[in-house]
Amino acid sequence: MRLRNIPGAEEAIASSPYCIQNPESHFGKWNQVFENSNPIHIEVGMGKGKFILQLALQNPSINYIGIEKYASVLLRAIQKLDSIDAPNNLRFICMNAENLPDVFSKNEIQKIYLNFSDPWPKDRHAKRRLTSREYLFKYRQILSPNGCLEFKTDNKPLFDFSIEEIREASWMLHAYTYDLHHDDALKIGNVMTEYEEKFSSVGNPICKLIASYQ
Ligand code: SAM
Repeated sequence: MRLRNIPGAEEAIASSPYCIQNPESHFGKWNQVFENSNPIHIEVGMGKGKFILQLALQNPSINYIGIEKYASVLLRAIQKLDSIDAPNNLRFICMNAENLPDVFSKNEIQKIYLNFSDPWPKDRHAKRRLTSREYLFKYRQILSPNGCLEFKTDNKPLFDFSIEEIREASWMLHAYTYDLHHDDALKIGNVMTEYEEKFSSVGNPICKLIASYQ
């Protein structure tokens, strides 16, 4: 998702109470940001934030952090919070996921969500895919051993690639489906993302996997 550059997006992010500035300064002490010791779940590449906002509203005893690299996209998530009684267990960071290990310490994160990540179809760009072994290595540096990664996409080649990478990186695949919305077990409690609504409404099956490194 690449929106046109929206004038004022950077300024809106800098002044939003929901957006964390200088995220590296909270390394190892993210619980202080939320003023509690609840588990922290992150969504990497959250887009306009529909999914993570719904999770935060549903689960007040979990802290959520949405990560998005484009200010113009993150601005849409901020605007959503500005129009409701925003939950105090949700924050956003405008950053590139490649820097995650500089922002979160070992074991600091209990769950990582990747939803409809950019496919980067050219082979030479495989390292940029958020489910590549390079990114799995980064996730391992911040995810607690009993934590997990959940990934959804309608892009079957990306999903197959992701399963391969999970095996190559010696992670464990706990569950997967090529048709989430018709999978009796995995569809329970499913929260749809913006892209999931768009793609499932035109008949694309949604793939989902759950993995951990231990
Ligand atoms: N997760 C949302 C959904 O399912 O509706 C948005 C999906 S959109 C296709 C992918 C999003 O990931 C875009 O907003 C993009 O800017 C963001 N993104 C891609 N690579 C990223 C990275 N390396 N770090 C942070 N965000 C990234």
